[in-house]
Amino acid sequence: MPPRPVGPELPERLVRVYFRLLLPLIAAAVLSIIPELTGGLHPLAASFAGMLAFFAVLHLLRPGWSEGVRLGFALSFLIFLAVLVLEPQGLRVRTAYEGLILHLLLLLVPLNVLTWHLLFSDRPRWGQMLSLVLVGMGTLAATRWEDIAATRLTTSALLLAVSLVTHFFGGAVVDLHRRMREEERRARQDPLTGLGNRLAFAETCAQTQTAGVLAVLDIDHFKAVNDRLGHEAGDRVLREVADRLRGGLGKDAVLFRWGGEEFVAVLPGWAVAEAAQVLESVRGDIAAHSFGEGERITLSVGLCPYDPARGLAPAFTQADAALRRAKDTGRDRLVAAPAA
Ligand code: GH3
Ligand code: MG
Ligand code: MG
Repeated sequence: MPPRPVGPELPERLVRVYFRLLLPLIAAAVLSIIPELTGGLHPLAASFAGMLAFFAVLHLLRPGWSEGVRLGFALSFLIFLAVLVLEPQGLRVRTAYEGLILHLLLLLVPLNVLTWHLLFSDRPRWGQMLSLVLVGMGTLAATRWEDIAATRLTTSALLLAVSLVTHFFGGAVVDLHRRMREEERRARQDPLTGLGNRLAFAETCAQTQTAGVLAVLDIDHFKAVNDRLGHEAGDRVLREVADRLRGGLGKDAVLFRWGGEEFVAVLPGWAVAEAAQVLESVRGDIAAHSFGEGERITLSVGLCPYDPARGLAPAFTQADAALRRAKDTGRDRLVAAPAA
């Protein structure tokens, strides 16, 4: 069974729902409810709805600005709340509906506290800080409204308690999510070289959509390097080879440590001639390098083009067979196999 691909990051998914669905809905709700509460479309309510719509549209048009849009939105939201704290009577809500504002605060503040934690789960400190300011401002706003609505002092205390609990839950959820992602990342990484491991390779095989080239690379006579220099020096050689492969093949290559002293490179969008040329130059670079105490090593490489419609497995088998031919014909060379 192919491994389950890792989905988009939590904030990415949440931000999409929040900005594309929730904000327009809240803006529409404000525009339809507030005239009834205040006996006309109040400028503060209209500008609040406008602010929500502005950030919803900005997020849609400029997805790359996600960080700035999120922060700008949260700060604008807090500014509106501050106005409500400073000028609670500015809204001129009809007496019959004054209590409703408290209910809305009790609903919206804890909900936003939790959402903001998740919204900023890639920036947990921002999430913590913004959400704490929101708790404080929400409680203050509720206290001020309790004065106006002449209710007993219960909602603001309730709001503070519920919001603080939500704040700590939100922090815990974000921390749990961060640990999970870290574990997922670690499970796919070779600890010695930092390259992808077999699990990451299997995922790449299952997900690759672009035709390209697959190469299998093996250090020649590596056992002798360990025998001469010891296993720690052997580990350093493996790390350095991985670094040189990374540097030489560039960011368009996806590199894996298959196991031991064997590496796999998936080169999506590359042609065989281009891959052979670049791999030859990397082989040359590694062969010319002194790995401490004048130690020289060489690489044998087998490569094969792949067609994503057939999957990468046939190309791997062919590239591995080409690698064996490279070994059998004297090592320190590259052999290209015909298309799998
Ligand atoms: P060939 O040219 O045929 O590939 O010969 P070779 O010696 O490179 O291949 P062989 O498969 O005989 O030996 C591979 C060696 O790689 C044996 C093992 O000790 C070493 N090796 C595997 N993994 C590690 C590792 O993580 N660290 C170190 N230092 N050595 C490793
Ligand atoms: Mg070897
Ligand atoms: Mg080997």
